[in-house]
Amino acid sequence: MNDLILAIDQGTTSTRAIAFDAGLRPVAVSQIELRQHFPRSGWVEHDAAEIWRAVVKTCREVIDRVGGVTRFAGIGLTNQRETAVIWEAATGKPLHRAIVWQDRRTAEAVARLKAAGHEEEVQSATGLILDPYFSASKYAWLLDAVPDGRARAEAGEVKLGTIDAWLIWNLTGGRVHATDATNAARTSLMDLKTQAWRDDLCALFGVPRQALPEIVGCAEAVAETEPSLFGRALPIAGSAGDQQAALVGHGALNPGDAKITYGTGAFLVANVGPEPVASTSRLLATLGYRIGQDSAYALEGSIFSAGSTIQWLRDELGLIGASRESEALAESLPDCGGVYLVPGFTGLGAPWWRAEARAAILGLSRGSTPAHIVRAGLESLAYQTRDLLDALAADGSPRPTRLRVDGGVTANAFAMQTVADMCEVEVERPAFQEMTALGAARLAAYGLGREGAFEPLQGDTPAVWTPRMDAKARDAALAGWRRAVQAAILAAGDEPGDAA
Ligand code: ADP
Repeated sequence: MNDLILAIDQGTTSTRAIAFDAGLRPVAVSQIELRQHFPRSGWVEHDAAEIWRAVVKTCREVIDRVGGVTRFAGIGLTNQRETAVIWEAATGKPLHRAIVWQDRRTAEAVARLKAAGHEEEVQSATGLILDPYFSASKYAWLLDAVPDGRARAEAGEVKLGTIDAWLIWNLTGGRVHATDATNAARTSLMDLKTQAWRDDLCALFGVPRQALPEIVGCAEAVAETEPSLFGRALPIAGSAGDQQAALVGHGALNPGDAKITYGTGAFLVANVGPEPVASTSRLLATLGYRIGQDSAYALEGSIFSAGSTIQWLRDELGLIGASRESEALAESLPDCGGVYLVPGFTGLGAPWWRAEARAAILGLSRGSTPAHIVRAGLESLAYQTRDLLDALAADGSPRPTRLRVDGGVTANAFAMQTVADMCEVEVERPAFQEMTALGAARLAAYGLGREGAFEPLQGDTPAVWTPRMDAKARDAALAGWRRAVQAAILAAGDEPGDAA
């Protein structure tokens, strides 16, 4: 029976293929690590051809493992967002390494746009702040780097796209150049309301519209794969960027539903309903998904250091031997003893947006021990989450009553209880953790016309943490955190201030 869905999850550090059965349970997985290139300080690149080879290999492995391609109904796609690829239409060959979302090489070009007063127009059209993070300035850089790049793009000889578009191009044997609306929403070139490319923004960034993919919905049969790839053509029936796919994976489909993924960094995405909500708290306004005629918009906030703080405690300070040891160590204390760790290792993200800030440990006394520092590190995840939820509330979004969580750090029950306590919210962790791939599978299931594509998974009993801290202790802890953040900002020579 052809009831399986092949989910492709092309992430920053690895590429995975997962086969999901009709009940959306995983039945086979294949994974390949992805090589990171750091040609200069602040530059991060991927080899797009290597990514494509990994997709083919992982998909073939999964297909073989479950008994062949005839068992599959279609493909769902999810990917690292914002990463920019340039390739030649005639040959399908990348013309440069892909510029990865973390890459800051276009900081100066973006600063020039900012200085010329363009941030307001970009933000009101796209919901995004003006930042090198997003694809548009990366596309422009690539067009400048490739000989005759811009002219060839205008002539249709050179194509641009995020990783989803690159994969759809290759999966269809170069027949289809398409991107889903959630990925398009991260370029700085798409009008968030109309979900179409904007000529004025293409002109502002110097990106010819002819080189961009067609924007499609997240759960529709966009195209069929080239039959020779897997032995039979498969419809590509669902596609969304990784954080949006995780939102769908969690089934966070109603306004006020929110998810946060605690990995190396942490990404909060809150569903705000069928109309975009402009942020005045420097969250990003973005698209949650477009399914058929229905769109759900979202507000998004990123924490730069979440699990990476725990890695730092482990690898640089050597306070723990393994990430999971942080839990018992934190629980060996009744409280943090006034110690705060502000994890601004790479600056502070939303809602502070202080690129120059650096990490700080404050409130040490003669009795402070490694356990205090480890506990403060774990607690910093909860405080940063609280800041994001406060920003959401300031933007008029309903405060979530339940926060759905996934990612490596959620294995830590102490951290999750602290999130519940500091955020005054119920925290729910599904037993099945692959929310990003599940989201892609759900979208594909819907795109294939399946019933129940967005239903809760049968037999998945989530872990739930409920707030239990008394209000006085919580408010005192939060006040201490806010003082600590200000101190870290001041220590970096920056002006103190509110969340931007
Ligand atoms: P990513 O997808 O960003 O690579 P993962 O979701 O795989 O991240 O999560 C990995 C992160 O989770 C690492 O930074 C690791 O330190 C952290 N982590 C894993 N287990 C625990 C734990 N029990 N307590 C705290 N942090 C943990």
